[in-house]
Amino acid sequence: MTVNLAREALKEVNAYESSRGEGLWLNANEYPETVPFALREGLRMNYYPEMQSSALRKAYADYAGVEPGQVLIARGGDEAINVIVRTYCDAGDSYAYCPPTYSMYRAYGDIQGAKPVTCVTREADGFAVDALAVQKAIDEGARLVFICSPNNPTGQFVPRETFEAVLEAARGRAMVVADEAYVEFNPERTLAGLLRDHDNLLVIRTLSKAFALAGLRCGFVLGNPEAVASMGTVIDPYPVPVPVEDIALQALSATGVAAMRERAAKMRANCEVLVRGLSELPQVDRVFEANANFALARFKDARAVFARLAQDDIYVRDQRHMPGLANCLRISVGTRSDIARVLASIAAVPV
Ligand SMILES: *Cc1c(COP(=O)(O)O)cnc(C)c1O
Repeated sequence: MTVNLAREALKEVNAYESSRGEGLWLNANEYPETVPFALREGLRMNYYPEMQSSALRKAYADYAGVEPGQVLIARGGDEAINVIVRTYCDAGDSYAYCPPTYSMYRAYGDIQGAKPVTCVTREADGFAVDALAVQKAIDEGARLVFICSPNNPTGQFVPRETFEAVLEAARGRAMVVADEAYVEFNPERTLAGLLRDHDNLLVIRTLSKAFALAGLRCGFVLGNPEAVASMGTVIDPYPVPVPVEDIALQALSATGVAAMRERAAKMRANCEVLVRGLSELPQVDRVFEANANFALARFKDARAVFARLAQDDIYVRDQRHMPGLANCLRISVGTRSDIARVLASIAAVPV
Protein backbone atom coordinates (compact mmCIF):
# COMPACT_ATOMS: atom_id res chain seq x y z
CA MET A 1 0.00 0.00 0.00
CA THR A 2 1.25 3.50 -0.84
CA VAL A 3 2.15 5.62 2.16
CA ASN A 4 0.77 9.12 1.76
CA LEU A 5 3.50 11.48 2.90
CA ALA A 6 1.60 14.66 2.04
CA ARG A 7 1.26 17.33 4.73
CA GLU A 8 -1.29 16.60 7.42
CA ALA A 9 -3.19 19.84 6.67
CA LEU A 10 -3.95 18.68 3.12
CA LYS A 11 -5.98 15.70 4.28
CA GLU A 12 -8.80 18.04 5.26
CA VAL A 13 -8.74 20.15 2.09
CA ASN A 14 -11.61 19.98 -0.36
CA ALA A 15 -9.94 20.34 -3.75
CA TYR A 16 -11.72 22.49 -6.30
CA GLU A 17 -13.82 20.44 -8.65
CA SER A 18 -15.49 21.53 -11.81
CA SER A 19 -16.37 18.90 -14.36
CA ARG A 20 -15.91 19.62 -18.05
CA GLY A 21 -16.75 17.58 -21.11
CA GLU A 22 -19.65 16.86 -23.40
CA GLY A 23 -23.02 18.38 -22.58
CA LEU A 24 -24.29 21.79 -21.57
CA TRP A 25 -22.08 23.21 -18.84
CA LEU A 26 -23.85 25.82 -16.77
CA ASN A 27 -21.81 25.22 -13.62
CA ALA A 28 -18.87 27.64 -13.85
CA ASN A 29 -20.34 30.98 -14.95
CA GLU A 30 -18.45 31.02 -18.22
CA TYR A 31 -19.43 32.97 -21.29
CA PRO A 32 -21.48 30.54 -23.39
CA GLU A 33 -19.99 31.29 -26.80
CA THR A 34 -16.43 31.31 -28.11
CA VAL A 35 -15.10 34.77 -28.82
CA PRO A 36 -12.51 34.66 -31.61
CA PHE A 37 -8.98 35.76 -30.73
CA ALA A 38 -5.80 35.18 -32.73
CA LEU A 39 -2.24 35.36 -31.52
CA ARG A 40 -0.18 38.13 -33.00
CA GLU A 41 2.56 36.94 -35.39
CA GLY A 42 6.17 36.92 -34.30
CA LEU A 43 5.68 36.47 -30.54
CA ARG A 44 9.13 35.97 -29.02
CA MET A 45 8.43 32.79 -27.14
CA ASN A 46 12.11 31.78 -27.01
CA TYR A 47 12.50 34.42 -24.31
CA TYR A 48 10.98 34.43 -20.84
CA PRO A 49 8.30 37.06 -20.50
CA GLU A 50 8.61 39.99 -18.13
CA MET A 51 7.75 38.97 -14.55
CA GLN A 52 4.82 41.39 -14.70
CA SER A 53 4.14 42.58 -18.23
CA SER A 54 4.39 46.37 -18.12
CA ALA A 55 2.13 46.68 -21.18
CA LEU A 56 -0.57 44.53 -19.58
CA ARG A 57 -0.31 46.29 -16.22
CA LYS A 58 -0.74 49.61 -17.98
CA ALA A 59 -3.67 48.33 -20.06
CA TYR A 60 -5.47 46.93 -17.01
CA ALA A 61 -4.69 50.01 -14.91
CA ASP A 62 -6.19 52.25 -17.62
CA TYR A 63 -9.26 50.02 -17.80
CA ALA A 64 -9.69 49.93 -14.00
CA GLY A 65 -8.84 53.59 -13.37
CA VAL A 66 -5.76 52.96 -11.22
CA GLU A 67 -1.97 53.29 -11.66
CA PRO A 68 0.09 50.45 -13.21
CA GLY A 69 1.99 50.05 -9.92
CA GLN A 70 -1.33 49.13 -8.28
CA VAL A 71 -1.83 46.07 -10.54
CA LEU A 72 -0.62 42.51 -9.98
CA ILE A 73 -1.26 40.07 -12.84
CA ALA A 74 -2.03 36.46 -11.92
CA ARG A 75 -3.24 33.23 -13.49
CA GLY A 76 -6.85 34.02 -12.88
CA GLY A 77 -8.59 35.29 -9.78
CA ASP A 78 -7.91 31.92 -8.22
CA GLU A 79 -4.15 32.33 -8.24
CA ALA A 80 -4.78 35.84 -6.93
CA ILE A 81 -6.61 34.37 -3.91
CA ASN A 82 -3.82 31.88 -3.33
CA VAL A 83 -1.13 34.56 -3.51
CA ILE A 84 -3.07 36.85 -1.18
CA VAL A 85 -3.44 34.08 1.41
CA ARG A 86 0.26 33.23 1.22
CA THR A 87 1.26 36.90 1.43
CA TYR A 88 -0.86 37.81 4.45
CA CYS A 89 -1.41 34.61 6.46
CA ASP A 90 1.17 32.41 8.08
CA ALA A 91 0.11 28.88 8.96
CA GLY A 92 -1.94 29.29 12.13
CA ASP A 93 -2.97 32.89 11.41
CA SER A 94 -6.70 33.44 11.13
CA TYR A 95 -8.65 34.90 8.23
CA ALA A 96 -12.37 35.65 7.86
CA TYR A 97 -14.83 34.96 5.09
CA CYS A 98 -18.61 35.05 4.81
CA PRO A 99 -20.26 31.82 3.68
CA PRO A 100 -22.25 30.93 1.69
CA THR A 101 -19.66 32.26 -0.75
CA TYR A 102 -16.95 31.30 -3.20
CA SER A 103 -15.22 28.15 -2.02
CA MET A 104 -11.64 29.03 -2.91
CA TYR A 105 -11.03 31.38 0.05
CA ARG A 106 -11.42 28.41 2.32
CA ALA A 107 -9.57 25.97 0.07
CA TYR A 108 -6.42 28.10 -0.16
CA GLY A 109 -6.67 29.02 3.52
CA ASP A 110 -6.78 25.32 4.40
CA ILE A 111 -3.82 24.52 2.16
CA GLN A 112 -1.82 27.27 3.87
CA GLY A 113 -2.81 25.89 7.27
CA ALA A 114 -4.47 29.19 8.18
CA LYS A 115 -7.40 29.28 10.59
CA PRO A 116 -10.82 30.06 9.06
CA VAL A 117 -13.27 32.30 10.88
CA THR A 118 -16.70 32.08 9.27
CA CYS A 119 -18.94 35.14 9.44
CA VAL A 120 -22.00 33.32 8.11
CA THR A 121 -24.67 35.37 6.33
CA ARG A 122 -28.36 34.50 6.47
CA GLU A 123 -31.17 34.45 3.97
CA ALA A 124 -33.46 36.20 6.49
CA ASP A 125 -31.07 39.20 6.38
CA GLY A 126 -30.77 39.13 2.60
CA PHE A 127 -27.35 37.50 3.06
CA ALA A 128 -26.04 40.85 4.28
CA VAL A 129 -22.43 40.74 5.44
CA ASP A 130 -22.36 41.39 9.18
CA ALA A 131 -19.71 44.10 9.56
CA LEU A 132 -19.74 43.67 13.35
CA ALA A 133 -19.01 39.94 13.08
CA VAL A 134 -16.16 40.69 10.69
CA GLN A 135 -14.89 43.39 13.03
CA LYS A 136 -14.92 40.91 15.89
CA ALA A 137 -12.89 38.46 13.80
CA ILE A 138 -10.35 41.23 13.16
CA ASP A 139 -10.30 42.15 16.87
CA GLU A 140 -9.52 38.51 17.57
CA GLY A 141 -6.59 38.53 15.16
CA ALA A 142 -7.81 37.82 11.61
CA ARG A 143 -5.13 39.06 9.21
CA LEU A 144 -7.26 38.86 6.12
CA VAL A 145 -10.95 39.21 5.19
CA PHE A 146 -12.57 38.00 1.96
CA ILE A 147 -15.81 39.62 0.80
CA CYS A 148 -17.33 38.85 -2.60
CA SER A 149 -19.61 41.40 -4.31
CA PRO A 150 -21.83 40.57 -6.04
CA ASN A 151 -21.55 37.40 -4.05
CA ASN A 152 -21.14 34.04 -5.70
CA PRO A 153 -23.49 32.14 -5.34
CA THR A 154 -26.13 34.26 -3.56
CA GLY A 155 -25.97 37.13 -6.04
CA GLN A 156 -26.48 40.19 -3.85
CA PHE A 157 -24.16 43.19 -3.68
CA VAL A 158 -22.31 44.07 -0.51
CA PRO A 159 -22.98 47.76 0.13
CA ARG A 160 -20.08 50.16 -0.09
CA GLU A 161 -20.82 51.26 3.52
CA THR A 162 -20.18 47.71 4.72
CA PHE A 163 -16.80 47.71 3.03
CA GLU A 164 -16.00 51.12 4.48
CA ALA A 165 -16.90 49.94 7.99
CA VAL A 166 -14.79 46.81 7.62
CA LEU A 167 -11.88 48.74 6.10
CA GLU A 168 -11.94 51.19 9.01
CA ALA A 169 -12.05 48.39 11.58
CA ALA A 170 -9.20 46.66 9.77
CA ARG A 171 -6.98 49.70 9.30
CA GLY A 172 -3.38 48.89 10.21
CA ARG A 173 -4.37 45.36 11.23
CA ALA A 174 -5.87 43.33 8.39
CA MET A 175 -6.13 43.29 4.61
CA VAL A 176 -9.66 43.39 3.19
CA VAL A 177 -10.23 41.68 -0.14
CA ALA A 178 -13.13 42.71 -2.37
CA ASP A 179 -13.67 39.93 -4.91
CA GLU A 180 -15.04 41.67 -8.00
CA ALA A 181 -15.00 38.72 -10.40
CA TYR A 182 -18.43 39.84 -11.70
CA VAL A 183 -17.98 43.60 -11.60
CA GLU A 184 -18.30 44.01 -15.38
CA PHE A 185 -22.00 43.20 -15.12
CA ASN A 186 -22.45 46.26 -12.87
CA PRO A 187 -19.31 48.36 -13.32
CA GLU A 188 -20.68 51.28 -11.28
CA ARG A 189 -20.49 49.03 -8.22
CA THR A 190 -16.70 48.80 -8.20
CA LEU A 191 -14.86 49.56 -4.97
CA ALA A 192 -11.62 50.41 -6.77
CA GLY A 193 -12.23 54.06 -5.88
CA LEU A 194 -11.72 53.16 -2.20
CA LEU A 195 -8.10 52.20 -2.94
CA ARG A 196 -7.16 55.87 -2.76
CA ASP A 197 -7.95 56.18 0.96
CA HIS A 198 -7.49 52.58 2.09
CA ASP A 199 -4.07 50.97 1.79
CA ASN A 200 -5.49 47.76 3.30
CA LEU A 201 -7.90 47.11 0.41
CA LEU A 202 -7.23 44.56 -2.33
CA VAL A 203 -9.59 44.12 -5.29
CA ILE A 204 -9.67 40.86 -7.26
CA ARG A 205 -10.57 40.98 -10.95
CA THR A 206 -10.60 38.44 -13.78
CA LEU A 207 -10.92 38.08 -17.54
CA SER A 208 -12.85 34.81 -17.02
CA LYS A 209 -16.39 36.14 -16.79
CA ALA A 210 -17.63 39.08 -18.89
CA PHE A 211 -14.39 39.11 -20.91
CA ALA A 212 -15.27 35.54 -22.01
CA LEU A 213 -11.71 34.28 -21.42
CA ALA A 214 -11.95 31.63 -18.68
CA GLY A 215 -9.61 29.42 -20.70
CA LEU A 216 -6.94 32.12 -20.85
CA ARG A 217 -6.30 32.08 -17.08
CA CYS A 218 -5.73 35.75 -16.46
CA GLY A 219 -6.75 37.76 -13.41
CA PHE A 220 -5.58 40.74 -11.43
CA VAL A 221 -5.24 42.14 -7.94
CA LEU A 222 -5.53 45.88 -7.45
CA GLY A 223 -3.91 47.25 -4.33
CA ASN A 224 -1.45 49.78 -3.00
CA PRO A 225 2.00 49.55 -4.65
CA GLU A 226 3.62 48.15 -1.51
CA ALA A 227 1.03 45.35 -1.30
CA VAL A 228 1.53 44.63 -4.99
CA ALA A 229 5.29 44.38 -4.39
CA SER A 230 4.76 42.02 -1.42
CA MET A 231 2.50 39.76 -3.46
CA GLY A 232 5.08 39.91 -6.26
CA THR A 233 7.59 38.19 -3.97
CA VAL A 234 5.14 35.30 -3.40
CA ILE A 235 3.76 34.69 -6.90
CA ASP A 236 5.57 32.17 -9.08
CA PRO A 237 8.09 33.58 -11.54
CA TYR A 238 6.75 34.35 -15.02
CA PRO A 239 3.09 33.84 -14.16
CA VAL A 240 1.87 35.42 -17.39
CA PRO A 241 2.83 33.38 -20.46
CA VAL A 242 3.61 35.33 -23.63
CA PRO A 243 0.44 34.18 -25.49
CA VAL A 244 -1.70 35.09 -22.47
CA GLU A 245 -0.27 38.60 -22.39
CA ASP A 246 -0.93 38.99 -26.11
CA ILE A 247 -4.58 37.97 -25.94
CA ALA A 248 -5.24 39.84 -22.69
CA LEU A 249 -3.94 43.01 -24.37
CA GLN A 250 -6.36 42.48 -27.25
CA ALA A 251 -9.22 41.96 -24.79
CA LEU A 252 -8.34 45.22 -23.05
CA SER A 253 -8.02 47.29 -26.22
CA ALA A 254 -10.75 49.85 -26.90
CA THR A 255 -12.55 47.47 -29.26
CA GLY A 256 -12.04 44.57 -26.86
CA VAL A 257 -13.60 46.48 -23.97
CA ALA A 258 -16.48 47.69 -26.14
CA ALA A 259 -17.21 44.09 -27.20
CA MET A 260 -17.05 42.97 -23.56
CA ARG A 261 -19.60 45.65 -22.58
CA GLU A 262 -21.98 44.39 -25.26
CA ARG A 263 -21.59 40.82 -24.01
CA ALA A 264 -22.18 41.93 -20.41
CA ALA A 265 -25.39 43.73 -21.41
CA LYS A 266 -26.57 40.68 -23.34
CA MET A 267 -25.84 38.41 -20.39
CA ARG A 268 -27.74 40.70 -18.02
CA ALA A 269 -30.74 40.55 -20.33
CA ASN A 270 -30.46 36.77 -20.61
CA CYS A 271 -30.14 36.57 -16.84
CA GLU A 272 -33.53 38.26 -16.50
CA VAL A 273 -35.00 35.72 -18.92
CA LEU A 274 -33.57 32.86 -16.85
CA VAL A 275 -34.78 34.35 -13.56
CA ARG A 276 -38.26 34.97 -14.92
CA GLY A 277 -38.45 31.47 -16.41
CA LEU A 278 -37.35 29.86 -13.15
CA SER A 279 -39.80 31.94 -11.09
CA GLU A 280 -42.68 30.60 -13.15
CA LEU A 281 -41.84 26.92 -12.57
CA PRO A 282 -43.75 25.01 -9.88
CA GLN A 283 -40.53 23.07 -9.12
CA VAL A 284 -38.97 26.31 -7.85
CA ASP A 285 -39.56 27.75 -4.39
CA ARG A 286 -37.46 30.86 -4.69
CA VAL A 287 -35.13 32.60 -7.11
CA PHE A 288 -32.56 34.80 -5.40
CA GLU A 289 -31.41 38.23 -6.48
CA ALA A 290 -29.31 37.89 -9.63
CA ASN A 291 -26.79 40.59 -10.54
CA ALA A 292 -24.32 38.80 -12.77
CA ASN A 293 -24.30 35.85 -15.16
CA PHE A 294 -25.80 33.24 -12.82
CA ALA A 295 -28.97 32.64 -10.87
CA LEU A 296 -29.37 30.82 -7.57
CA ALA A 297 -32.67 29.05 -7.02
CA ARG A 298 -34.18 27.00 -4.24
CA PHE A 299 -36.13 23.99 -5.48
CA LYS A 300 -38.73 21.83 -3.83
CA ASP A 301 -36.47 18.88 -4.56
CA ALA A 302 -33.05 19.99 -5.78
CA ARG A 303 -31.75 16.44 -5.86
CA ALA A 304 -34.41 15.39 -8.35
CA VAL A 305 -33.82 18.51 -10.46
CA PHE A 306 -30.05 18.01 -10.45
CA ALA A 307 -30.46 14.38 -11.47
CA ARG A 308 -32.96 15.21 -14.22
CA LEU A 309 -30.66 17.91 -15.61
CA ALA A 310 -27.71 15.50 -15.59
CA GLN A 311 -29.82 12.94 -17.39
CA ASP A 312 -30.40 15.60 -20.07
CA ASP A 313 -26.65 16.33 -20.17
CA ILE A 314 -27.04 19.67 -18.42
CA TYR A 315 -24.70 20.42 -15.54
CA VAL A 316 -25.33 23.10 -12.95
CA ARG A 317 -23.63 23.87 -9.61
CA ASP A 318 -24.94 22.00 -6.63
CA GLN A 319 -24.98 24.34 -3.61
CA ARG A 320 -26.87 22.11 -1.20
CA HIS A 321 -23.79 21.64 1.02
CA MET A 322 -23.41 25.40 1.63
CA PRO A 323 -24.69 26.84 4.92
CA GLY A 324 -28.29 28.00 4.48
CA LEU A 325 -28.54 26.78 0.89
CA ALA A 326 -30.39 23.52 1.30
CA ASN A 327 -32.16 22.59 -1.96
CA CYS A 328 -30.30 25.32 -3.87
CA LEU A 329 -28.67 25.05 -7.28
CA ARG A 330 -26.75 27.73 -9.12
CA ILE A 331 -27.33 27.98 -12.86
CA SER A 332 -25.06 29.96 -15.17
CA VAL A 333 -26.76 32.15 -17.73
CA GLY A 334 -26.22 30.62 -21.15
CA THR A 335 -27.48 31.52 -24.59
CA ARG A 336 -31.22 31.95 -25.09
CA SER A 337 -31.44 28.38 -26.38
CA ASP A 338 -29.44 27.08 -23.39
CA ILE A 339 -31.95 28.82 -21.12
CA ALA A 340 -34.88 27.25 -22.96
CA ARG A 341 -33.23 23.85 -22.64
CA VAL A 342 -32.55 24.11 -18.92
CA LEU A 343 -36.06 25.39 -18.17
CA ALA A 344 -37.67 22.59 -20.21
CA SER A 345 -35.59 19.98 -18.41
CA ILE A 346 -36.56 21.32 -14.97
CA ALA A 347 -40.21 21.55 -16.02
CA ALA A 348 -40.15 17.80 -16.67
CA VAL A 349 -39.45 17.00 -13.01
CA PRO A 350 -42.60 15.73 -11.26
CA VAL A 351 -43.83 18.18 -8.62
C1 LIG B 1 -14.84 32.97 -11.21
C2 LIG B 1 -14.45 33.54 -9.91
C3 LIG B 1 -13.13 33.90 -9.59
C4 LIG B 1 -11.91 33.72 -10.42
O1 LIG B 1 -11.92 32.90 -11.47
P1 LIG B 1 -10.63 32.78 -12.36
O2 LIG B 1 -11.12 32.04 -13.54
O3 LIG B 1 -9.59 32.04 -11.58
O4 LIG B 1 -10.18 34.16 -12.70
C5 LIG B 1 -12.88 34.51 -8.39
N1 LIG B 1 -13.86 34.75 -7.53
C6 LIG B 1 -15.12 34.43 -7.79
C7 LIG B 1 -16.15 34.76 -6.80
C8 LIG B 1 -15.46 33.81 -8.98
O5 LIG B 1 -16.74 33.47 -9.19
